Amino acid sequence: MTTPYKHEPFTDFQREENRRAFEEALNKVEASLGQDYSLVIDGERISTDEKLVSVNPANKEEIIGTVSKANQELAEQAMEAASQAFKSWSKWDPAARAEILFRAAAIVRRRKHEFSALLVKEAGKPWKEADADTAEAIDFMEYYGRKMLELKDGKPVNSREGEINRYIYQSIGVSVVIPPWNFACAIMVGTTVAPLVTGNTVLLKPAEPTPVIAAKFVEVLEEAGLPKGVVNFVPGDPVEIGEYLVDHPKTALITFTGSRAVGTRIYQRAAVVHEGQTHLKRVIAEMGGKDTVVVDKEADLDLAAESILVSAFGFSGQKCSAGSRAVIHEDVYDAVLEKTVQLAKERTVGDPRSHDTYMGPVINQKAYDKITRYIEIGKEEGRLVTGGEADDSKGYFIQPTIFADVDPNARIMQEEIFGPVVAFCKAKDFEEAIDIANNTEYGLTGAVISKNSENIERAKRDFQVGNLYFNRNCTGAIVGYHPFGGFKMSGTDSKAGGPDYLILYMQPKTISQML
Ligand code: GLU
Repeated sequence: MTTPYKHEPFTDFQREENRRAFEEALNKVEASLGQDYSLVIDGERISTDEKLVSVNPANKEEIIGTVSKANQELAEQAMEAASQAFKSWSKWDPAARAEILFRAAAIVRRRKHEFSALLVKEAGKPWKEADADTAEAIDFMEYYGRKMLELKDGKPVNSREGEINRYIYQSIGVSVVIPPWNFACAIMVGTTVAPLVTGNTVLLKPAEPTPVIAAKFVEVLEEAGLPKGVVNFVPGDPVEIGEYLVDHPKTALITFTGSRAVGTRIYQRAAVVHEGQTHLKRVIAEMGGKDTVVVDKEADLDLAAESILVSAFGFSGQKCSAGSRAVIHEDVYDAVLEKTVQLAKERTVGDPRSHDTYMGPVINQKAYDKITRYIEIGKEEGRLVTGGEADDSKGYFIQPTIFADVDPNARIMQEEIFGPVVAFCKAKDFEEAIDIANNTEYGLTGAVISKNSENIERAKRDFQVGNLYFNRNCTGAIVGYHPFGGFKMSGTDSKAGGPDYLILYMQPKTISQML
């Protein structure tokens, strides 16, 4: 009997012993930087000449590791291995598959600070964010393992006189997993173990900026007893390898988290039936967001400022859930703006290696260039009230940036920036605030800060987002508590960490037997 699911607690870094343990983990990770990691195909380690080079975004000189890149021939071998392994893996007792997830969760829990320390170095996450990322990875394994146990015998359907009916779930086939770099541990783990526990086999193509943490997780799965060929590790070029695998006739499922441009392209490509293909592919896509914190006139204004700050600048705004727009009732607009600016000025930006850092760098040059371009656009579209400075001499650092008095239709109110930039916009009443909040192509998260119960009820009905939060920030969904996924162009609303998620990776079968 497994114990009921409960989320992994976050580490309290106020306590000195925890800080010391985390420092030790950072030292350990730093002592092993620069190693070379291989592809894993059918349990074999294969090294190639072409490498992904993972660098520390806070210090471009520091190489986290190099990872071999697959070419199409190797991707084909990996597909073959996954197809072969499917034959036996899909027949495993679901409870035994869940057991592997529980074992892997225990291994990561034991090495929790080490995984988080690697996230600090490879993804540029501040300690707290890195700790939450690893905790979420553990949660996905614990939660999906338990959900599989609940689903293993199917769901009840009616039988009648002379006829016994059953409704069960079975695995589908090979799953191509394309995770993002921003939750380089959590989402990579979640989107790998969901197809696994449901009896599918996996080709894992890690995000280019963060392949080392993924290589480490593949080692954990091996240690937990996963048979060879069930997960194959195939880092590579998004076009050369990503599209090859997406187009492959043997691919049954594709699970992608990342940009809207790539997500829609995968969705479209996956719709094409290729020669030799005998099924329709399923796509689970979690894409962008342009998420809003709405502040009502009857609200705790300190809470409003804190919620906007956390939503906008947590992990430098590099979350699809980030609150990059604040829509505020005109009566309290100036006060909330002033309080938020004050908080932003107090926050430190720097190398997340240090415990005191609130905000680290952005992930790479491409992101830095894109965000600084948007800051220039923002200067045309609004009033820069704090931040705006950036420095890429050592790492990719951008100050928390706030633009005030921005029009609801301005580009910085509509387009996903994926950086520490938030636009403030004034609304004449609550209804208009919700209209503005809804006026993007996205519909992922949103928060409402209000003490007015009528307005809260109105927002529940009218605010069109997959994850709606009241009197808090709009980031930080917890597995099993806040199933996560969005409406509109934010994706397929697949609700990672929710009770319906595993079903997406299985096909239900009805069995009717006459007596
Ligand atoms: N689940 C995360 C959150 O609630 C965001 C995931 C993402 O950015 O892809 O903040």
